[in-house]
Amino acid sequence: RKADIALYEAKAAGRGRYVFFAEQMDASIRHRREIERDLRAAIAAGDEMHVVYQPLYSAQSGRITGAEALVRWQHPHKGLMSPSTFIPVAESTGLIEPLGEWVLEEACRAAVALPLNSISVNVSAVQLRNEKFAERVIAVLERTGLKPSRLELEITETSFIESVANCQPNLAALRARGVKIALDDFGTGYSSFTHLRYFDVDRIKIDQSFVNGIDAEAGGSAIIQAIVDLAKASGMQVTAEGVETAEQSTFLTEAGCNSLQGYLLSRPIGVGELAAMCTKTAVGT
Ligand code: C2E
Ligand code: MG
Ligand code: MG
Ligand code: MG
Repeated sequence: RKADIALYEAKAAGRGRYVFFAEQMDASIRHRREIERDLRAAIAAGDEMHVVYQPLYSAQSGRITGAEALVRWQHPHKGLMSPSTFIPVAESTGLIEPLGEWVLEEACRAAVALPLNSISVNVSAVQLRNEKFAERVIAVLERTGLKPSRLELEITETSFIESVANCQPNLAALRARGVKIALDDFGTGYSSFTHLRYFDVDRIKIDQSFVNGIDAEAGGSAIIQAIVDLAKASGMQVTAEGVETAEQSTFLTEAGCNSLQGYLLSRPIGVGELAAMCTKTAVGT
């Protein structure tokens, strides 16, 4: 009898947990579907999305050299949504292709009118895998009149690994036109250093987790120095992202980084504010 009761209780508890999990899963699937539906509508209508720009500063001169385009979504009910929430949904639904192309065109159009050396645009592995990707980018450059060498595409290391075979022809075609390629979030992927041997990139962007580590861990600064030395020995430019303190800025400059990006220098800003900053801080390398 006791054993029967125990068994009954276990089953009930198990079922309870199952129901709980099922409800949670249901809620998260519903949430994703909602985002997908709203995202589709927002991309079609085009009035809820906008692009902000975060400047890159020369470590040597402190002048603005370029800016990175970052997409923002002003959701009618949910408020300002972070790309880390909706980019994964855009990727899994294919919506990243029209969204990414829209961001690219906005950024190129803005850059044509600004005295920046380069404009950086983030690109997802899903876009890179499409055999028409390079063609589409070149079409945007032609439509907007931006010189290809002023465009830099940022690709995360994980994207590279996921789509090595399919992305190579796209990257080769773009580089042949003069478009620059940067490896974003460098150091967060699996065996980062190995990849540098296989991919032709113009720049690496040291992930902000390493930059944060400068003050925290004793080994943090040694890792950064090793990354900078290796990148420079391979003829690549180095940008440090997520620079928040003066100490970090000093260390990164002394370590030999070419450019710095982070809240210490500027948060992502609107295109009007960027234009004003460009005239204040003479642009150069
Ligand atoms: P990311 O390309 O590595 O961009 C850097 C992120 O760090 C941005 O977040 C930026 O606002 C933030 N950041 C900049 N400086 C600092 C700092 O000093 N401290 C801290 N804590 N954060 C800083 P955001 O704009 O939320 O974007 C997150 C990620 O979403 C980006 O990482 C990028 O991977 C992705 N993303 C943004 N826009 C696009 C896009 O148009 N297309 C694609 N495919 N991905 C995008
Ligand atoms: Mg980036
Ligand atoms: Mg990054
Ligand atoms: Mg990132």
